[in-house]
Amino acid sequence: MEPTYSKLTVEGDKKTNWICGCFETVDNFFKFCSIHNDMLKNIIEHKIDELDTEYSKSAN
Ligand SMILES: [Zn+2]
Repeated sequence: MEPTYSKLTVEGDKKTNWICGCFETVDNFFKFCSIHNDMLKNIIEHKIDELDTEYSKSAN
């Protein structure tokens, strides 16, 4: 079952297509598969928390 993409991207516009389902389009738009989407979400959230901590440290 193919997921539907909100962006108007056709097959030919894909620059890089990974086996897991992630792909990058020619206009540098990333679409992640559900596994990596969750993974990256956690990584990004963790990274923002980390940067926030660093920022508040240097601000004091
Ligand atoms: Zn993936």
